[in-house]
Amino acid sequence: MTTLTDSHWDAIIIGTGIGGGIIGRALAEAGQKVLFLEKGPAPLPGETRALSDHFLPEARLVRGLWPTPLQATIDGRDSQFFAPLGAGLGGSSTFYAGTLERPEPHDLEDQPDRPHPTGGWPIPFDHFAKSLDRASALFQLYGTRDPLGEDAPLNTPPAFTKTESALVDNLQKAGLHPYHAHSAARSDTPDARPLNGHSAGVAPALASGNATLQTRAEVTRLIANSDQITGVQARIDGVEHQLSATRYIIAGGALGSPHLLLNSSSENWPDGIANRSGQVGRNLMFHLNEMFALWPRGNSPEDGPSKSIALRDFYHHQGQRLGMVQSMGVQASYGEIVFYLNQMLARSRFANLPLLSQLTRLPAALAARMFGHAQIFVGLLEDLPYETNRVLPGAQLRISYDLAPELLARRKLFRRAINKALRGQRRFCLNRGPELNFGHPCGTLRIGTDPTKSVLRPDGRSHDMHNLWVADASFMPSSMGVNPSLSIAAFALHVADHILKEAP
Ligand SMILES: Cc1cc2nc3c(=O)[nH]c(=O)nc-3n(C[C@H](O)[C@H](O)[C@H](O)COP(=O)(O)OP(=O)(O)OC[C@H]3O[C@@H](n4cnc5c(N)ncnc54)[C@H](O)[C@@H]3O)c2cc1C
Repeated sequence: MTTLTDSHWDAIIIGTGIGGGIIGRALAEAGQKVLFLEKGPAPLPGETRALSDHFLPEARLVRGLWPTPLQATIDGRDSQFFAPLGAGLGGSSTFYAGTLERPEPHDLEDQPDRPHPTGGWPIPFDHFAKSLDRASALFQLYGTRDPLGEDAPLNTPPAFTKTESALVDNLQKAGLHPYHAHSAARSDTPDARPLNGHSAGVAPALASGNATLQTRAEVTRLIANSDQITGVQARIDGVEHQLSATRYIIAGGALGSPHLLLNSSSENWPDGIANRSGQVGRNLMFHLNEMFALWPRGNSPEDGPSKSIALRDFYHHQGQRLGMVQSMGVQASYGEIVFYLNQMLARSRFANLPLLSQLTRLPAALAARMFGHAQIFVGLLEDLPYETNRVLPGAQLRISYDLAPELLARRKLFRRAINKALRGQRRFCLNRGPELNFGHPCGTLRIGTDPTKSVLRPDGRSHDMHNLWVADASFMPSSMGVNPSLSIAAFALHVADHILKEAP
């Protein structure tokens, strides 16, 4: 431990998810001396991590899951549940499906026929596209070109399975434009998971010889004077330490990063560090999931769950921002359905009834029989930023979020469009009510040029603190109609470029 406190670091990176891992790699490979501090543990040799129903904080943390429940007030109703968030080497990306889809120009830019809800990101699409290309190379992205979109660098994907081909055929016959989803290659580690914040970020950073990783190291507080961070307080294996560096990069995720800033209030910073604007934690967005089961026509063989089919026919529809549709990589098996029903119950008003979760077993078994070979698809509906949707300070992660009427109206349109396009195909809508995707939080430390309306400059540096940077999902001014991780990685590279420009 002495070496951690005695050494001088060019950068301390808090969190090792996609954002933290990728920025750490870029800095370490450029010769910067980097220290990663990660709240959770590294996986044990041979351990394959999976989202699971564990309720004891320590049992969760050893499996790389965020240990404590998320306390959420949604549409005025209080609930607490375990959100699908990682807390371990690789963050949430150790559980992710590795679908790395690219945003479209109108996701970032205000266009005459597609106005942007925020007026546009302060990074032009053409500029961001260069970082997206570099991120695609790091994740060895494969897939086929979206027939409705622009070209992107992609490796050749494996052929579709027979089930996937049958589904693609169904979709094409319905006049839709499916393509092979853009996915991260698998790592060559024994678990062969899609490349993630660990395997594509932290591991190569460590291999450069310029990075050090400390797991089970929770940063509990940032220490600051009026315009710079002077150190971090970290609890490492239960013991408090103070560490310092030239630069500090927060990459604790879109809930964890604002939570840390808000909880680090001091005399200089009564509302939380870097929060002169009052915007820290605000503009919280998720996607809304529209999940449906789709059965391949005829007697197609059982090939296991597919996560390879994507389509963007409803991405921007009737002048509205909706989102993409993709296969989820899960089948409606008994275990998946029990997990899903229990998550729904935990967020409902029945959450406190004892043993209710036992009652989900029978409907789950019936549903699993009914679904048989169906594949599960999800539509990711873009969420828009509202100041009132926010992360709040406190001992545990805490949010307040209201579903905006315009979001519910776009959801109706999305469902109608999907149902209309799939008319005549055997399908089943899996969610009746709006389903927030708690695995896709973003937007809580947004970039912008106006320091009164944003937390970060367009290059990821805090408006208020000149040695503080952010490189995770918090930066996004809008949530886009695609999965977030490719953009998080691209932004991390963009931030690294700016740091390296001024680093000695
Ligand atoms: C089941 C699931 C499937 C998904 N599938 C996809 C997909 O296919 N494609 C896609 O693009 N996205 C997917 N996502 C979303 C994606 O995983 C996340 O958007 C992304 O990983 C977020 O990365 P991040 O760097 O912002 O932060 P995170 O992954 O949240 O990482 C933050 C890290 O910081 C650590 N940390 C937080 N606070 C502190 C602190 N105070 N001190 C020290 N460490 C701290 C945490 O322990 C964590 O390890 C999925 C998510 C889930 C849950």
